[in-house]
Amino acid sequence: MTSHCNGNMDSFVKVPTIKFTKLFINGEFVDSISGKTFETIDPRTGEVITRVSEGDKEDVDLAVKAARQAFDNGPWPRLPGSERGRIMMKFADLVNQHVEELAALDTIDGGKLFGSCKSMDVPGAANCLRYYAGAADKIHGNVLKMSREFHGYTLREPIGVVGHIIPWNFPTIMFFGKVSPALAAGCTMVLKPAEQTPLSALYYAHLAKLAGIPDGVLNVVTGFGPTAGAAISSHMDIDAISFTGSTEVGREIMQAAAKSNLKTVSLELGGKSPLVIFDDADVDKAAGLALLGILYNKGEICVASSRVFVQEGIYDEFVKLLVEKVKAWKVGDPFHPKTQQGPQVDKKQFEKILSYIEHGKRQGATLLSGGNPLGDKGYYIEPTIFTDVKEDMLIAKDEIFGPVMALMKFNTIDEAIKKANNTTYGLAAGIVTKNLDVANTVSRSIRAGVIWINCYLAFDQDCSYGGYKMSGFGRDCGLEALDKYLHVKSIVTPIYNSPWL
Ligand code: NAD
Repeated sequence: MTSHCNGNMDSFVKVPTIKFTKLFINGEFVDSISGKTFETIDPRTGEVITRVSEGDKEDVDLAVKAARQAFDNGPWPRLPGSERGRIMMKFADLVNQHVEELAALDTIDGGKLFGSCKSMDVPGAANCLRYYAGAADKIHGNVLKMSREFHGYTLREPIGVVGHIIPWNFPTIMFFGKVSPALAAGCTMVLKPAEQTPLSALYYAHLAKLAGIPDGVLNVVTGFGPTAGAAISSHMDIDAISFTGSTEVGREIMQAAAKSNLKTVSLELGGKSPLVIFDDADVDKAAGLALLGILYNKGEICVASSRVFVQEGIYDEFVKLLVEKVKAWKVGDPFHPKTQQGPQVDKKQFEKILSYIEHGKRQGATLLSGGNPLGDKGYYIEPTIFTDVKEDMLIAKDEIFGPVMALMKFNTIDEAIKKANNTTYGLAAGIVTKNLDVANTVSRSIRAGVIWINCYLAFDQDCSYGGYKMSGFGRDCGLEALDKYLHVKSIVTPIYNSPWL
């Protein structure tokens, strides 16, 4: 049985007072026009943390108006890149100065491990800002190789007003993954955080103002998808939209963009990522990696290794070690320093995961471990492993977005590649082997945006990621992310004896 770290939830860390709960528009915290608010819930208990302003179409209109004004007439797009970079560096310093408080906000709002937020998400977000701050004065076009009587060059100009819509699983990393390259490019923006986790985004808006980011450049509208989110994706005065979330909503966003002003769209969507473990692997380490790949952030991670393929020769030993490790895995209060897995983000996600577990059982997979809710309050689920999984079962096809692993066997490399690619998604994959030929062959054959060899979830801000197939298009992180926020303009002029004038 997996252990459950109980404990008084507030005894490990001081839970912060919530300071910011209103929309952030044109540099001010304001109530929504309707005056409506919504509850944000603590998934450790199911209790209300606070109420947050509920933005809708009229609020999005005001935010877009502020962003448009800041883009057309404000200083931000016109500043030298080095100056934008200097202000972004200050923003990053402020993020670092408030690490504990920000980490605690994501923990109470999203059930994320406090230790990971404090050591990775929040400092990583500050590093992301610094990375793009350093890029802000290196954005430039090219000289064209025109026929001899012409001189031609390209400019890379900010795309304009950007709409960012982000999910709840990494509220801080998603916020800065979108905002940092857009700021560096000189864009202005409206961001909608997920309704489950609005708190840290509002705090970041406050820090942006303290850092000196001009009013109207960064607006945050909290609210729901079908109202505030849809108002962003269908807005006639937003030039580009950058979305991370589910494949279904990604489709709606493309349709809204197509039906409104044909704004450019980039989509980071779901995944069903394979981890392929070959016979020559260190079986103990491979079992640890497989658990980390599916259980990190309680499986609420788009690149989770939810399909694990193990070569026949080590399969039995792998299963034995996996069971030993999962028994020692600690689920419980995410503030507890020993906890490895906190609660799922909300009741809806909790119920969705449990219903997939029921599907797995009904469709004939064998439950090797877990499968049940844990504790008497909050949204905790045991780490769950299924064996005897067939590729056409729902648990092998759908993104569950929870701590549920589908374990399968393979024999040859070709079979492994075929099975790994047997998904509509293509976000990430992992390969465990000591054989360089195998690693090279398989990494080039899997259709996915990130491939990890002998590691999993290794990320940094310069590692671009994004989808193949129905995992979307466009890249976040890396210098590639800047492309989403820049137009390319070609300028051509005759060199001499122009017949044109
Ligand atoms: P979701 O698609 O339901 O919601 C994401 C965001 O979209 C939220 O802010 C939501 O309010 C908004 N939204 C919902 N309906 C909308 C609409 N009609 N118009 C505009 N906006 C709308 O996703 P979720 O359940 O919050 O997040 C989980 C999903 O996100 C998973 O499928 C996961 O794979 C995906 N995800 C992908 C990545 C990636 O980088 N590819 C990263 C994290 C999460």
